Amino acid sequence: MAITDKIYVKNHRQLASQLDTSFPKSAFAGATLDMLFTGDSLAKLDSTTRDRVLDFSEDFLDCSCESHPYCGCAERKFIDYLLELRAQGFGPDAIVDVMGDDYMLYAYSGDILSFLDQSVRTLEAAEALADIENTGRSEAIRTAKRDLTG
Ligand SMILES: [Zn+2]
Repeated sequence: MAITDKIYVKNHRQLASQLDTSFPKSAFAGATLDMLFTGDSLAKLDSTTRDRVLDFSEDFLDCSCESHPYCGCAERKFIDYLLELRAQGFGPDAIVDVMGDDYMLYAYSGDILSFLDQSVRTLEAAEALADIENTGRSEAIRTAKRDLTG
């Protein structure tokens, strides 16, 4: 399961009651994206919640793919966001706090930890491959890994 399947909407029950409907807890579930990002729904939210939803929408759902929001861009951008936070020196618990403040989302820090571990292993594999194939990408990969393991 991808990490984006383990990102949840904070205050889910409260949101569902404001919207007067039910939707999945998972932030990147198609039904959640559909529900939260239609103009109708936004109007029903309190202003704090609406601001967070709009920020999320601007930061992750701004592509113009035909299959939007099912094109995968949002998930990719969110993964970049997580890696960027790690590169800034945030640990799993702090990352969970930041996504709560930024977008009213939450995840279990254990899931974030395994995601970061997995990302480092992926980079190590890429680094080994780049070394073997001498593609000239080794240095960039090493830098990315250093950012993650900080
Ligand atoms: Zn897209």
